[in-house]
Amino acid sequence: MKPLIVANWKCNPTTLKGAKLLFDSVKKEIKNIKNIEVVLCPPFIYLPILTVHRQVMNIKLGAQDCFWKQQGAFTGEISPLMLKDLGCQYVIIGHSERRALGETDEMINKKIRAALKSKLKPILCIDKISQIKKDLKTEIIIAYEPLFAIGTGKPCSIEKAKKMRTSLIRFKTVLYGGSINSENAKDYIKEAGFQGLLVGGASLEPKEFIQIVKNVSRVC
Ligand code: PEP
Repeated sequence: MKPLIVANWKCNPTTLKGAKLLFDSVKKEIKNIKNIEVVLCPPFIYLPILTVHRQVMNIKLGAQDCFWKQQGAFTGEISPLMLKDLGCQYVIIGHSERRALGETDEMINKKIRAALKSKLKPILCIDKISQIKKDLKTEIIIAYEPLFAIGTGKPCSIEKAKKMRTSLIRFKTVLYGGSINSENAKDYIKEAGFQGLLVGGASLEPKEFIQIVKNVSRVC
């Protein structure tokens, strides 16, 4: 299985021009890196245009959230069906920044089910094991994102991350996320045993993000 590197652009960039620029810079440099699966998750609004511009097999697109209903009277929501129709393959669910806005485990659970129903690959973000439903039988991608490490420049120690990876042994694909940079990226794969990374801040700097992908590619 190829390592998976997911870029969470969060609420950035602020213009379509900026989004295209970021996308094109990444695309240009990573199109020849075949041993890594790169998933870019821009804000919803940029997804249609970036899907059209994709043209590179090893870049996939993902969304940063989705609703739990496929259609209907739900003002402001985006359904998994709509994302799938656009060519999205992945969707981040339960990011800590969404949980901080009031998203509960129950809502997250419904979103995961809806995403799976539409054949999207959900990436469930957790910072503790209790956030995973005990009866979860379906194989999904988990992203371990310790709260203290998100956007702080203070990554989790390799030892602690490795322990968490061991606790999540029943999942085949577990990503690490939290203050990843080009220096530390490969250690979470090589030493802590993760199958990929969820990159926030560093994914907005094309040079740094490309270097993360290159450094992981070298050790795989
Ligand atoms: C994230 O938002 O999922 C994240 C890991 O952010 P950062 O890389 O900036 O810590």
